[in-house]
Amino acid sequence: GKNGVPVAENFRLEQSTIADTVQAGQVRVKTLYLSVDPYMRCRMNEDTGSDYLQPWQLSEVADGGGIGVVEESKHNNLAKGDFVTSFTWPWQTVAILDGSSLQKLVPQLVNGRLSYFLGAAGITGLTALLGIREKGHVAAGANQTMVVSGAAGACGSLAGQIGRLEGCSRLVGIAGTDEKCSILVQEMGFDAAINYKKGDVAKQLRELCPGGVDVYFDNVGGDISDTVISQMNQNSHIILCGQISQYNKDVPYPPPLPPDIEKIQKERNITRERFLVLNYMDKQEASVLQLCQWIQEGKLKVRETVVEGLANIGAAFQSMMSGGNIGKQIVSVSK
Ligand code: NAP
Repeated sequence: GKNGVPVAENFRLEQSTIADTVQAGQVRVKTLYLSVDPYMRCRMNEDTGSDYLQPWQLSEVADGGGIGVVEESKHNNLAKGDFVTSFTWPWQTVAILDGSSLQKLVPQLVNGRLSYFLGAAGITGLTALLGIREKGHVAAGANQTMVVSGAAGACGSLAGQIGRLEGCSRLVGIAGTDEKCSILVQEMGFDAAINYKKGDVAKQLRELCPGGVDVYFDNVGGDISDTVISQMNQNSHIILCGQISQYNKDVPYPPPLPPDIEKIQKERNITRERFLVLNYMDKQEASVLQLCQWIQEGKLKVRETVVEGLANIGAAFQSMMSGGNIGKQIVSVSK
């Protein structure tokens, strides 16, 4: 439904038998890792609000980003033992898939950490990198202050680090626990972090960003974003990545700003353009290589929260939607 908080009980695990023959062009895969992501909440509505997202159907198998290993192949370009991924991987332990729907993975690119292809070296990393490059107007030497909301999440933790790598001079994160804030500063190189569940966010932000905010990587929307926008500088830029605080509500995307905040946005000429990573897939290959290089060089610190077992995927989704994850939420299906 449009206004509900997702819970583990929205999902059901069933045993069933898959076909025992693999047809020409198909492969049989064993699932290794599945991704749970905020956009999936929109797939739990009859109308997802986006042309590019299809609703999940009641009692059908859910799907999303996944990684697995080929066990049997009747596809020319795939062989037994290949690691493969897809955005529409069924939430099954084994599956028969069209080989043409799969991309082959090179584990060496991520030091053997295959699950990174669902996060830092996958759509999440691409979202952070391309969001900054396409909408952030970050310029080395320009002494810019960047603020990231949802900063300890999958996109946010990478976006901050990439903002720094691309040249931002001051980096402030906003996240939901003291532990997350401490990881942002100790591990991820943020200058400071604000726990938005404690104290006065506006006051802390003013103290931590004395020169105002030049770039805002917005993962959450709502009150937090209104507070940040009201401290943004003339001709500054919002990277409108996501609005997770609004996903359990029946509102359009992107949600309109309250009138007083919209007035500030217009008067200060703050850009707030919709950003969708899928519109930049022509840059996927080069961008993934850049992310992998940073990972190999230790310039991009990667955190994952891993839940074991397909039976726990609903709980993993529930937990991620309510702040239980640090970095990318992954479900490990079989070793
Ligand atoms: P994530 O940040 O790893 O996980 C969600 C986090 O959001 C939670 O851990 C929680 O952390 C925070 N959160 C949940 N409810 C909140 C609320 N009401 N107010 C403030 N924070 C809240 O997820 P992700 O995959 O990296 O996605 C982050 C955002 O990017 C989402 O909005 C997603 O839709 C968007 N996204 C956009 C694109 C694109 O192409 N534009 C692509 C991928 C993802 P706290 O403990 O800090 O509250």
